[in-house]
Formats: sequence, structure tokens, C-alpha cells
Amino acid sequence: MNNKEIPYKIYLEEKEMPASWYNVRADMKNKPAPLLNPATFQPMTAGDLEAVFCAELVRQELDDSTPYIDIPREILDFYKMYRPSPLVRAYCLEKKLDTPAKIYYKFEGNNTSGSHKLNSAIAQAYYAKQQGLKGVTTETGAGQWGTALSMACSYFDLDCRVFMVKVSYEQKPFRREVMRTYGASVTPSPSDTTRVGRQILAEHPGTSGSLGCAISEAVEAATAAEGYRYVLGSVLNQVMLHQSVIGLETKAALDKYGIVPDMIIGCAGGGSNLGGLISPFMGEKLRGERDYRIIAVEPASCPSFTRGRFAYDYCDTGRVCPLSKMYTLGSGFIPSANHAGGLRYHGMSSTLSQLYDDGLMEARSVEQTAVFAAAEQFARVEGILPAPESAHAIRAAIDEAMKCKETGEEKTIVFGLTGTGYFDMVAYEKYNNGEMSDYIPTDAELEAGFAGLPKIKA
Ligand SMILES: *Cc1c(COP(=O)(O)O)cnc(C)c1O
Repeated sequence: MNNKEIPYKIYLEEKEMPASWYNVRADMKNKPAPLLNPATFQPMTAGDLEAVFCAELVRQELDDSTPYIDIPREILDFYKMYRPSPLVRAYCLEKKLDTPAKIYYKFEGNNTSGSHKLNSAIAQAYYAKQQGLKGVTTETGAGQWGTALSMACSYFDLDCRVFMVKVSYEQKPFRREVMRTYGASVTPSPSDTTRVGRQILAEHPGTSGSLGCAISEAVEAATAAEGYRYVLGSVLNQVMLHQSVIGLETKAALDKYGIVPDMIIGCAGGGSNLGGLISPFMGEKLRGERDYRIIAVEPASCPSFTRGRFAYDYCDTGRVCPLSKMYTLGSGFIPSANHAGGLRYHGMSSTLSQLYDDGLMEARSVEQTAVFAAAEQFARVEGILPAPESAHAIRAAIDEAMKCKETGEEKTIVFGLTGTGYFDMVAYEKYNNGEMSDYIPTDAELEAGFAGLPKIKA
């Protein structure tokens, strides 16, 4: 393919870092469906959205036509503290698997938040500051988003109020303390501090919470306080736009060595890391310039793509957020307590949902013990202890590399290693003790979720 020796880690130089984000919607023939107002079921206007979200972020959310959006200087300066992130050739994993496949991973865990989420957190905090707001509210599941947002808010001197899914709040006290160290306030959700939280508690006493509940509480807290807006760490178009920095760097690093991937793999919770990673590659595909296999990997316990419905649904349990047309399990679906907290969301990015429905990408689901087996295998040879979410992508990458071993094909696989798992040691402990189970929802359980879908002609 090329004569240059490919280093273990391909780093871009500072001047090669992307100066704009790429908006894949500009190249889509079938645009993602508009968000709908939960009260009227009419498309959300910028005015409607600005009651909840920062104005500039609303502009980005609704912009389906501008392909490149400049990254403001202040955000680029922050990116430079931890970016470019390395694109690593997994030589040791390839050797261990004895596969002819070439495996690369884009590592986003090299910052204190331990994940890719800081890429969007810093952008959202910047626009909130520009607008003169006092602070922002948000939800966090596993805690990575809350941590990233706390870091971003402290950098721009904004107040940060985080509603943390109760099960994570209890299981991950250390992540909670990182957030507090950065000055955020952290409330376990559902809580009695909001009307919607009290209502959820009354209907589901003893619930361990879900992202959908925490979102409802955070939105209520934002709209109830003067000078606050709500920010979200995934699912929305704006988040995927900011995360395109991952894909743009990956593409630039591959181009530098003349490498063309055959497949690109990422884990999918709300779809932001996968969407960001694949954006420039999907752009080439949409413009008919090149073809790639693109694979989304999700937990078998929360299978939005592989077993969900493509329909309008609420983004939150309390039904205060706009509706999005997406692959969904229903906003009332509460997944079993699997250990990849960041992948427990009932829905999926509307942009990725449209691309998937148009047959431009694939999806598969994997069970959690198989995911941890892949995480362990990877950690032992590649020296990074992966986040359970990221290990979904590792599982699929290893499976594809093993298929290459059978066929003798030298395919090039790129996957997103979205973060580190140091705060997930309770999950690793369960796995090491042989106490981890694989819960897969029954069809009847999924039907119960679908029964709650709003009746809207999409
Ligand atoms: C949040 C998170 C994810 C999943 O979120 P997406 O929006 O689907 O990317 C994956 N990996 C890690 C480490 C996360 O923190």
C-alpha cells in the first residue's frame, strides 16, 4: 500500500489540526427529520429552542446546509491542550490475534474527563459564555459528560449543575468528586428538587434512574432559573458536529500515510462519537467519492438500532424535550443496569438514524460479557484500560479481524477508542469475579416501550 513505515502513533502537527467542524447533514440527500415541539407536534422554531438551548447552538442544530463551520479561536486553544489525539496502530493486538488485518484506533481518553465528550463540552460552554449566561444544567449517565462539562465550565467560569443518574451516582463516587473538584454541583436523579423528578419518584419508587429521567430534570432546572440554559452531551446534531473533530483528525492522519480504511467501527449510545468519527468518511460516501463499511456497535441490553423503531419519540422520560425522529426503544424504556452507562440511552442521533435507515451504515449488538472479554484482551496487549462503552467497538474490531484471519484478507479496520475505564472498576470487578450477566430484553419488554411512542405520522 505504501513504503513508509507506519509509526505506532500517528500524531498530526498542531498546524494540521482541523480549523473547522464538518457538518455531514450538508451532504445528505435525505436530511434528518426536524425536531418537533412536544406541546404542538409542529417543527421546533429557533425561538422555541432558544428557551432551552444557547442561541448559537440552536443555529448549529438547525443548519442542514453549511458543510464547514469555523471552530472559534478560544475553542481551538483549548483543544490544543489535549489534541490532536493519537491514531494508534494496534500492532500488539494484531500480533496477539495473529490476523492479517491492520487495526487502528483513535484514542480520545487522553484528558481528565477520560472521554471524547470534552470536544463538545468546551464548545457548548464557550457559546454559553458568549451569550452572557450564568450557567448551564445537564444530565450525566456514567459521569463522563458531567465531568467534561464541569471542566469546560470551570475554564470559562460558568456555573454547572449536573443531574447524575442515581445508579451511577452511587456506583461512581469518584467521578462525582471529580465534577465537584471542578466546581459543579451534582444531584442524584430522579431527585425531589424538580417537579418532574418528584413525579417519576412517585410512579417508580426506588428506581435507579435513567438518562431520560435526568434529562427531564435538567431541562426543568434550566428553564426555572434566570440566566441558565440546558446542554446535552450526545444525540443532538450540534454535538455530532463538534465531535467531527475526531473524524477529521483521523482522516488527516490516515491521508498523511496514504492509508484507506475498509471499515470504521464505533460504539453507539446517542451516536455522537460514532457520528463524529465517521462524518468525513460518510461525506465521501454520500458524495460518491469512496465507499467504506461503517459499523455501529450497541449493547444487546439497549438495542436502539438493531431492535428499535424508526419513529418520532420524546428524547426524555418526562416528555418535556422536543421529539426527534430516530431509532428508539421508547422514552419509557429503562434498560437493565448494564455497565456501559454511556450506552443506556433509549434513542439515537436523528442524523445517524436517517443514514442507517438509508442503508449507508450497519449496526450490530453485543453482549456485555463478550464486551468485557474484548476489553481485557485489549488492555493486556495495548496498555490502555478501555471504558466499557469503548470496548463495544473493540469487540466488533476483534471479531472483524478474526474474520480476516479466516479469509486471509488484509483489511484495514479503524475504530474509536472513546475513553478509559478507570472509574468503571466495579464493572471490571464483576467481570473478574464471574458475576456479570448478559441481560437481553424480551420482545414483550420492547413492545411495552413501543406502546408508549407518540402517535405521529412521520
Ligand atoms: C458517552 C460515551 C459514549 C457514548 O456516547 P455517544 O454519544 O454515543 O458517543 C461512548 N464512550 C464513552 C467513553 C462515553 O463516555
